[in-house]
Amino acid sequence: MIAFDYIRPGDAAEALQAAAERPGARFIAGGTNLLDLMKLGIERPRHLVDIGGLDLRTVSETPDGGLRIGALVSNAELAAHPLVRDRYPVLSQAILAGASGQLRNKATTGGNLLQRTRCYYFYDPASPCNKREPGSGCAALGGFNRIMAILGTSAHCIASHPSDMAVAMRALDARVETRLPEGTTGDRKLDTLYRLPGTTPHIEHTLAPGELITAVLLPPPVPGRHHYRKVRDRASYAFALVSVAAVVAVEDGRITQAALAFGGIGTMPWRDRAAEELLVGATPGQDLFERCADAVLARAQGHGGNDFKIPLLRRTLVACLTDLTEDAR
Ligand code: SF4
Repeated sequence: MIAFDYIRPGDAAEALQAAAERPGARFIAGGTNLLDLMKLGIERPRHLVDIGGLDLRTVSETPDGGLRIGALVSNAELAAHPLVRDRYPVLSQAILAGASGQLRNKATTGGNLLQRTRCYYFYDPASPCNKREPGSGCAALGGFNRIMAILGTSAHCIASHPSDMAVAMRALDARVETRLPEGTTGDRKLDTLYRLPGTTPHIEHTLAPGELITAVLLPPPVPGRHHYRKVRDRASYAFALVSVAAVVAVEDGRITQAALAFGGIGTMPWRDRAAEELLVGATPGQDLFERCADAVLARAQGHGGNDFKIPLLRRTLVACLTDLTEDAR
């Protein structure tokens, strides 16, 4: 690990100033991903601004009936919070499906959103990787690519996004609140936080240098049943091969609301609104769910070792929708 400065600011303004004064500085909170990357020499920040002591650990209701989640709320606290369990159970389920208890105690809401891929070659400095070293190539394209993405990929990178929490948050139409170095506040849809790899897979999000995530905002809960279904290689402490976050409501035999997001298959937490539109107004059933899967998978592309994700996502989505609607039909 290289030598670095360590700065522990007292509040958000000090944190922003510290980062602005030190080009290339990184914010650190739980450190559950960044420290691993630093030990391997994959991330080499010269300055670490530790935001762990900032006052960003509160979950509170917003005036419109939504939820404001401080960026430093731990994954464990968020999954167990009564308002999350009661009003946004898909979020609680997704968080509890991720990592281990120890990691969830340490990992934060903001950090979870920004965690980096678990592509094996990204973590192996001896392998070519455009995300780690732009222009070096992509070892996963012709290599072992079981866990890689089938949607949103490019000829430069096929790495999947690892977060479960962010998948549920996409289904819930979350927004991300930030503070910029000049002191202004930013607010963007989670949908627009992430970038597709394209020709620049090393640029993963739309945050400006020194921009700090301060909270995640959830809109008021919508009617419907919630479910997070995750398929992985072992029963716990494993990233998703495929996952589905779904919020679906049925009234008088018809689907009146549907929000679907997917993990394990995309280069970012994936959402497909065209597939949702197919569901709304229709009568639930196997044929409809298969057509919904067709829509999600219309542009899916396997890379050999991960071809199985295409039928696996289909079966997982159909099963999830069946579970959510079968006693309402
Ligand atoms: Fe690197 Fe992306 Fe290729 Fe993995 S898939 S080796 S992260 S460029």
